[in-house]
Amino acid sequence: MTEPARALTEVREKIAHAAKLARREPSDIELVAISKTNPAEAILPLIAAGQRVFGESRVQEAQTKWPPLLEAHGELSLHLVGQLQSNKAEEAARLFDCINSLDRSSLVAALARAFDKAGRQVSCFVQVDIGEETQKGGCPIAEVPALLAEARGADIPVIGLMCVPPHGVEPAPYFALLAKIAADNGLAKLSMGMSGDYETAVMLGATHVRVGSALFGARG
Ligand SMILES: *Cc1c(COP(=O)(O)O)cnc(C)c1O
Repeated sequence: MTEPARALTEVREKIAHAAKLARREPSDIELVAISKTNPAEAILPLIAAGQRVFGESRVQEAQTKWPPLLEAHGELSLHLVGQLQSNKAEEAARLFDCINSLDRSSLVAALARAFDKAGRQVSCFVQVDIGEETQKGGCPIAEVPALLAEARGADIPVIGLMCVPPHGVEPAPYFALLAKIAADNGLAKLSMGMSGDYETAVMLGATHVRVGSALFGARG
C-alpha cells in the first residue's frame, strides 16, 4: 500500500470504530478528504485507493486543480469548505457538488442567482459560528433560524449545519451544540470534525467529517 492509501485505511478504521461505539453505521458517515494545498499527484493515490469525495477551501485553487481530475474520474464529488465570496458563487455552483459555508443572507441571494445561471442546485450546509469567533465566518447561532428560512424561501437545498470549533479547546461541547441546533431546525446532516477530532465528531453525530492532514500529511 502507498502511504496515502495506508492513511486512508487508518482514518476509515477509526471512523468505523467511533461509529460502532456510538451504535451508528459507518456507512452513514461520509469522509470528505480535504485536499487543499495538495497537488493532483498527491490526490491520485487516494482516488486509486477508492476515495471519491474531496474538499477544497478556495474556489480558484479548485478551479485550476480539479477539472482534469473530474474529467478523468467522473464519479467524484467535490465539497467547498472555505468561505465563499458572493462574486465567486457562480463559479462555485458549476464546480462543486456541495457547499459547506453558506453563512449569510447576501450569499443566499448570490447562490440563488448562481444556481439559476449554472442550471443546477448544489446542496449546502449552513456554517454556524459555533464558538462565537467572527473571524472564522459562520452565521451567529441566534440568526440560524432566520437564515434557514431565507434559504428555504430562495429554494436553496440546505441539508444540514457545519462548524469549525475554536482551536485548542475540547471540541465535544461545540459538536453537541451544533447537533442540537440542527435537530431544533429539522436538519439531518452535520459537517463537523477535522483531522484532530473527527472520531469525537462521529460519536456526536457527524454525517460528514472533513479530514485533510491525517490523509495528506501536514500542510507546509
Ligand atoms: C483545512 C480544513 C479542514 C481539514 O483540516 P485538517 O486539520 O487538515 O484535517 C476541514 N475543514 C475546513 C473548513 C478546513 O478549512
